[in-house]
Amino acid sequence: MKRPILIHPDPRLKKRCDPVGDVTPEIGQLAEDMLATMYDAPGIGLAAPQIGVMKRLLVMDCVKDPELPPRPMVLVDPEITWASEDLNQYEEGCLSIPDQYGTVSRPAIVRVAWTGLDGLRAEEEFSGLWATCVQHEIDHLNGKLFIDYLGPLKRQMITRKMEKLKRDLARRG
Ligand SMILES: [Zn+2]
Repeated sequence: MKRPILIHPDPRLKKRCDPVGDVTPEIGQLAEDMLATMYDAPGIGLAAPQIGVMKRLLVMDCVKDPELPPRPMVLVDPEITWASEDLNQYEEGCLSIPDQYGTVSRPAIVRVAWTGLDGLRAEEEFSGLWATCVQHEIDHLNGKLFIDYLGPLKRQMITRKMEKLKRDLARRG
């Protein structure tokens, strides 16, 4: 089931989320809803706080080539265990900040440990778009947005546009 995505600014997007711990059937259902919401948007990543659930859970699929099979990933309680000194720049966007983009530098390669829906801990190294995406989503779990990496003027300009968008959406009902 698709869920509504919160739009910045929203206090829930600024909070640190709580660990999930045990992977219950409810968490499995939540992950399924998050994947449906992400694919529908469409987007390549979504964190639980973006649908107002303050838990450390994210989903992603950075396979952009429609010829290749999708690779939906669910990461519960993810942790970055290693990051490269080499940085990579990407023009980032966010489903909670629609149609706004900014260049962000992040470690080019990261190793991430997480709990899967099977309840087992897993660890994998991510590079390229996957590395950017997983770091962007883990930031969400810590109440951080990609615009927090931009200069104050650009950040304010984007925030004002989003405030206006939210007013317009509210007016339209
Ligand atoms: Zn985002």
